Amino acid sequence: MGGSGEKVLVSEKVSKRYLPGGPFAVKEVDLSLHAGEVVSMVGPNGAGKSTLVQMMLGLLIPDGGSIRIFGQDVVADRRRIAHRINYASTDLSLPYALTVRENLLTYALIYNMKKPRERVSRLLSLLGLESFADRKVGALSTGQVARMGIAKALVNDPEILFLDEPTATLDPEVSAQLRQLLAEMVRERGMALLYTSHNMREVERFSDRILLMREGEIAAQGTASSLMDRYKTQDLEALFLLVAGKKEGAVV
Ligand code: ADP
Repeated sequence: MGGSGEKVLVSEKVSKRYLPGGPFAVKEVDLSLHAGEVVSMVGPNGAGKSTLVQMMLGLLIPDGGSIRIFGQDVVADRRRIAHRINYASTDLSLPYALTVRENLLTYALIYNMKKPRERVSRLLSLLGLESFADRKVGALSTGQVARMGIAKALVNDPEILFLDEPTATLDPEVSAQLRQLLAEMVRERGMALLYTSHNMREVERFSDRILLMREGEIAAQGTASSLMDRYKTQDLEALFLLVAGKKEGAVV
């Protein structure tokens, strides 16, 4: 990890309001993401994290500003970008009557992956899903569905991976294994990872850079230690509470 790679995503003054003239869900956000970098986005509910990620995925159209991925505009050039990125969130819905293997195979075929069966077997093994492979998705536990969602998000070997609270429903052991797996992908393949989490210990240990969002804006960003120095807090939990509740004085 470290993020010294090229810029793979650049947003410039990107904004979104859900209602014309209403409050900004995301307001003039500038940010960049580099190959080989782990960036976590934290902030209270309603801070605009999901809206921003949906715009990065090209699923929501910004009202203002732009987002470029691999140098191409996510709105105008989405078809040229989509196969190189992927996403998993907690509200994943998959065909419940298909098995885990069938679901993953479908995605591997959609992405036109070479040797799709081998690819699926590898993902099942990486995510510890082998013993559930032939179970219907509808019969899985919440944590197993979350692992399945991450396997699905890795199916096309994405260069940028967006994960919305990937570890929220995982037990500590599986959660640690997942972080290890993701760290390897970031280090070995230069994957860029942008994720959201409410687990501040995880964020502190795992991220190269942290974006603290509040009311649609990036209230502060930096490494965990630089942020704690700047705000004079002992841990990220305290920093989160400070920034989340504070109106004035946040430093970008
Ligand atoms: P977060 O992911 O940080 O919890 P969101 O991006 O979901 O934040 O929400 C940002 C703001 O946009 C909130 O004020 C939320 O109420 C509003 N919002 C989100 N989705 C919608 C929607 N579909 N329609 C109207 N307002 C929305």
